[in-house]
Amino acid sequence: MSWETVIGLEVHAQLATRTKIFSRESAAYGAEPNTHVNEVCAGMPGVLPVMNRDAVHMAMKAGAALGCQINRLSQFDRKQYFYPDLPKGYQISQFAAPICTGGEVRFLVDGEERVCQLTRIHMEEDAGKSSHEGDSSLVDLNRAGTPLIEIVSEPDLGTAEEAAAYLRELRAILRYIDVCDGNLEQGSFRCDANVSVRRKGEPLGTRAEIKNLNSFRFVQRAIQYEVGRQIDLLEGGGRVVQETRLYNADTGKTFSMRSKEDAHDYRYFPDPDLPPMVIDEAWELRARAELPELPGARRVRYQSEWDVSAADAVTLSASREVADFFEAAAAGSKNPKRVSNWVVNEVLRVVENPEDGLALLFTAAQLAALSDMVEAKEITGKIAKTVFEHMVATGDDPGAILDREGLRPVRDEGAVRAAVEKIVADNPEQAEQFRAGKTKVMGFFIGQVMRATKGKADPDLVRQLLAELLA
Ligand code: ADP
Ligand code: MG
Repeated sequence: MSWETVIGLEVHAQLATRTKIFSRESAAYGAEPNTHVNEVCAGMPGVLPVMNRDAVHMAMKAGAALGCQINRLSQFDRKQYFYPDLPKGYQISQFAAPICTGGEVRFLVDGEERVCQLTRIHMEEDAGKSSHEGDSSLVDLNRAGTPLIEIVSEPDLGTAEEAAAYLRELRAILRYIDVCDGNLEQGSFRCDANVSVRRKGEPLGTRAEIKNLNSFRFVQRAIQYEVGRQIDLLEGGGRVVQETRLYNADTGKTFSMRSKEDAHDYRYFPDPDLPPMVIDEAWELRARAELPELPGARRVRYQSEWDVSAADAVTLSASREVADFFEAAAAGSKNPKRVSNWVVNEVLRVVENPEDGLALLFTAAQLAALSDMVEAKEITGKIAKTVFEHMVATGDDPGAILDREGLRPVRDEGAVRAAVEKIVADNPEQAEQFRAGKTKVMGFFIGQVMRATKGKADPDLVRQLLAELLA
């Protein structure tokens, strides 16, 4: 019997608040070490945490966007563990009563929709960062106390590709609603992957948890490696132990970090410094009212209204910047599907990082105009690409570029006829072949004429004149 993979993901997303979750200290990334640390972040005795209202609001928006139930009452708990990057000796998190329960993420894999249910979303504070250099360990507490949401999925994912697609969608949603910048390198969006295997139909196997994966590629590779490792182990008569593992990107392997803690190891208890958190309906409605149209809804619209392919719809909806640009161009054009090809194949090719804004010299309306010129057969696709390069460089109107660069198609029948006649006269052998019934050489003649006219002859006219002369 074959093996089945079971994956559940835990995502830590840093909320894009200005200040930390329990104090007014700045939550900005990238400052000199230990310059964004106050008494609360440092865990001084006698300080008290004060809940950041924006963090709650953002967590709620995330819950609303992901179809969760937002709980009227939730509770903060102390999760005990002692590391130098968490000086007070416990992390404030939510355990028994999280802010959100349930929910789901819908995403596409190879054009097919998949659903992964969510268990919960809870709020917590981040720890600082330790780094180890030679014999010394350095601690930077700037990150200590920045607000996080942890989004916990059910073990509903069956392949590494599904896991990666789930993460991309989740990240896109959080970015759409402005609650997380989604920066993987800076650690604003991190993933722990829980992986187990089982024979089809059997109960869940023992899982290993791979911690702190900070690229989608690594998530996929780490899961693939881990699945192979567990299957080899089980087929060799061994058993999988529940443990926390790390992924080494250089070797492509996972290795054991520590045996897995159980919840009781953390000795959770309600934090007496924070009263239960109450969210009334009015506040929930305010958060819900701020949600924009989400990537999934846009994707469906692009496919059903504009006939865009599933894969392109995913690409176009992945960030708001790209989606807005595409929609503006598509709405102003005669053929939105043609515009989708332009954006996916050409615009995204020239934009370095579309999520940082497109920073294009030309506008959506200009792209629509260019696309419509091809649609109306005013210019060939080849000339359109040349015009596009000029638009990228100058931001000029496609019409102005055609004139300036002398790219206007030659519609003057006399000129095209002269070119066609010359090519036919210069290639008597091929002309003979055509007349003998080898119609394939038509392509050769069209190519020759287009080359002679530098691609500017109207292809329909060329075809018509060639047919006439070769008959
Ligand atoms: P913890 O918080 O200790 O990591 P949880 O029970 O909250 O443990 O589970 C965390 C994640 O592990 C969830 O995303 C869940 O879907 C996933 N998970 C639980 N059991 C399995 C399993 N047998 N195989 C794969 N994933 C699992
Ligand atoms: Mg975990």
